[in-house]
Amino acid sequence: MRPHDEQAGSVGLVVVSHSRPLANAAVALAQEMLHGRRVRVQVAAGLDDTTFGTDATQIMAAIAAADQGQGVVVLMDLGSALLSAELALELLDEDAAARVVLCPAPLVEGLIVATVAASAGAGRDEVAAEATGALAGKTSHLGAPTASAAAPDLAAAPDPAPAPGELTGVFTVGNPHGLHARPAARLVQAVRTLDAQVLIRNRTTGSAWVPAGSLSKVATLGVLSGHEVEARASGDEAREALDQLLRLAARNFDEPAGGVVLDAPPATFTAPIPTAPGVGIGPVWSPRLGPIDLTGIHAGDPAVEWRRLSEAIAAVRHSVSRVRARATRDIGEAEAAIFDAHLLLLDDPDLLGDVRGRVDGGQSAAAAWSAAVDAVSADLADVPDPYLRARAADLAAVRDAVLRELLGLTGSDAAPTGVVVAGDLTPAEAAELDPSRVVAVVLAHGAPTAHSAILLRARGIPSVVGAGADVLDVAPGTLLAVDGGSGEIVIDPSPQVQERFRAKAAGLARRRSQALADAAAPALTGDGVAIHVGANVGSVDDARLAAECGADLAGLVRTEFLFLDRAHAPDIDEQEAIYRAIAEALGGRRITLRTLDVGGDKPLGYLPMPAEANPFLGLRGIRLSLANPQLLADQLLAMVRVAHDVPTSVMFPMVSTLDELSAARRMLDDAIKHVGMGTPPDLQVGMMVEVPAAALKARVFAPHVDFFSVGTNDLTQYALAAERGNPAVADVGDPFDPGVLKLVEAVCRGAATTGATVAVCGEVAADDRATGLLVGFGVRELSVTPRAVPAIKQRVRGLDSEEAATLAGAALAAAGANTVRDLVDGALPPDASAVVAE
Ligand code: PEP
Ligand code: MG
Repeated sequence: MRPHDEQAGSVGLVVVSHSRPLANAAVALAQEMLHGRRVRVQVAAGLDDTTFGTDATQIMAAIAAADQGQGVVVLMDLGSALLSAELALELLDEDAAARVVLCPAPLVEGLIVATVAASAGAGRDEVAAEATGALAGKTSHLGAPTASAAAPDLAAAPDPAPAPGELTGVFTVGNPHGLHARPAARLVQAVRTLDAQVLIRNRTTGSAWVPAGSLSKVATLGVLSGHEVEARASGDEAREALDQLLRLAARNFDEPAGGVVLDAPPATFTAPIPTAPGVGIGPVWSPRLGPIDLTGIHAGDPAVEWRRLSEAIAAVRHSVSRVRARATRDIGEAEAAIFDAHLLLLDDPDLLGDVRGRVDGGQSAAAAWSAAVDAVSADLADVPDPYLRARAADLAAVRDAVLRELLGLTGSDAAPTGVVVAGDLTPAEAAELDPSRVVAVVLAHGAPTAHSAILLRARGIPSVVGAGADVLDVAPGTLLAVDGGSGEIVIDPSPQVQERFRAKAAGLARRRSQALADAAAPALTGDGVAIHVGANVGSVDDARLAAECGADLAGLVRTEFLFLDRAHAPDIDEQEAIYRAIAEALGGRRITLRTLDVGGDKPLGYLPMPAEANPFLGLRGIRLSLANPQLLADQLLAMVRVAHDVPTSVMFPMVSTLDELSAARRMLDDAIKHVGMGTPPDLQVGMMVEVPAAALKARVFAPHVDFFSVGTNDLTQYALAAERGNPAVADVGDPFDPGVLKLVEAVCRGAATTGATVAVCGEVAADDRATGLLVGFGVRELSVTPRAVPAIKQRVRGLDSEEAATLAGAALAAAGANTVRDLVDGALPPDASAVVAE
């Protein structure tokens, strides 16, 4: 909420919008009309500066701040803005609520007229009436029907008569899976933002007309690839709406070419991708199939029931928005857009209208919500296409999330056990799995380099991704045997198969305990070259585990874990305390503290960042820190304080240019001066190499660093133009590609000019097929997920550095990643890879 100019004694205005920037801009535009006069306008918009949403408590506060005793006119954009405003009125005390009018005017036009009227001293009802008529000028200018004539309740009639001035159009859906959740969400979004009433129907099947602004209704059209869809638009922006629809359809609703693999799984799970090694046998647990028991829930007063439901929906909307923001960062915008469908469902006027009717008719909030969502699912069940039918899973996920919120079902009631089978997991969900209860994870979709996969490996949970949608049909409780090393999945395994899996697990356990027994010893190649094997750490618990697994150091501390999911950045003291706790858990071994590595794709709520079309190419890593110098200065201060007591390396992420490195180093020097005890004796300074240009310029950077750490996850994504979390390009983004290996080799050559150390901390460092190659190039430190430390040390001990150099040279000349793997496999001891990361 942000106050704007005010005029004592006038009617107050409140702007409720899903978007804070939109509301502020509308207010600025309206105030242009005031010529020096002032009106009190308050904004209640967005969940924060960048997250879309509306919030009843924010609206209440805005109304209270706008009310100077003359009453308040509230203008809203659409959907949940209305519901939240209504809820706010219910929450206000009666006197205050009686002074408020919720005005149906279009937001921008209405606000301008209302601002002018209020500034001229009009009373509350006059301001509201003026605003409501605000479209008149536009409609008469364009010769369009009036707003009320343009909004007949066409949705209710199966074949409504054309509205005056109605425009029509037809498009063919080219998306491989038809108008499924994401393209449908894109269509609905486009329609909802315009001042037009749009109806669509599936012309191919001769379906009824439905409002294009209702995702639940659009989903019932059963539009498949090649189907013709007919659209009718009326209202002020009818032409624009129709143009937008046709343009969107021509662009396949912005779905990547070939469909999105997350939503386009293979029909059977014949080619699952092994993702985290290990063997697990257990009953299927599915997050979507656990029924929620509604028996014994009684309906209270409808107003109270509706309020509770609105609050639950708002809470789920908030958490989906947060998960979406996180998913955008971790797996990319295209995949994160699936959450838009969830958000639209939570905001769907048709669905909410049905729920409201049921609540007013005496049902409990839980029963009404559940029944209304199930009614939509039932419509979907009649759609012939199995793929579209499967969208019912989206509905079920949203239904259950709201029910859980409503009924307070959290924690152990829902805790996963056994083999978790899901479409995909967000990084947050992967991070929450308890490895002592979950024996394996099988994902229908997903990519092995996605952050959720990294987390599963890090947590030692045997996992397979890309198993295909059919795996979701396996009934909960069915026994599943999973081999995360080979990708083999067996449903209801026979005793013989179970025995085979158990024997493999026992073999792995034996090798793991052998590797663990030797874990604390240094890793020297057969010819005596020392390779430091460190751990990648994202919490104090990780650091403890790293010490147990024999890590020589923390080669990468991802400090962003401290900064995410909170309202304010941690202060210097808090940061210092956590860095010290990590150092203590590691028993005084070196800690490599990476400065904050977030950006437009991993937003921080308390750090306003502009939306970026290509966040992976935007203000990330060191760029973001340099753009927010106080944040970096505080972090460096905390690091320097710790560095006086513990061997510490400070590492800058995503460096592309020498200017960035120099600026960051200057800030480190300032922090050292500020602490005032001289340069910590054991301080080392380095940079990550994640940008191909930085790899090729290693010689330029080398005089300014003690070490390089190659982040192969990002380096691979940028070198091969294959987004790291996008399953559709998972096979392209392969760190074994000779192009990527050449960049690693270039770093080693550049570093050799000054003797700077080269480390690798990307996921490939934990793959024992890469160990020989990396050592062969000249890498002398590998930083891996803690559980992989013992196995990678074991692998180093089996190497000869000269043979490794020969192998690495041959790999550089290979034609592709598979040829490199073949080369390496020829040089590996039999069955060696089975031991990694166990
Ligand atoms: C990398 O990019 O390889 C890396 C280690 O950094 P992150 O995975 O945290 O982006
Ligand atoms: Mg990185």
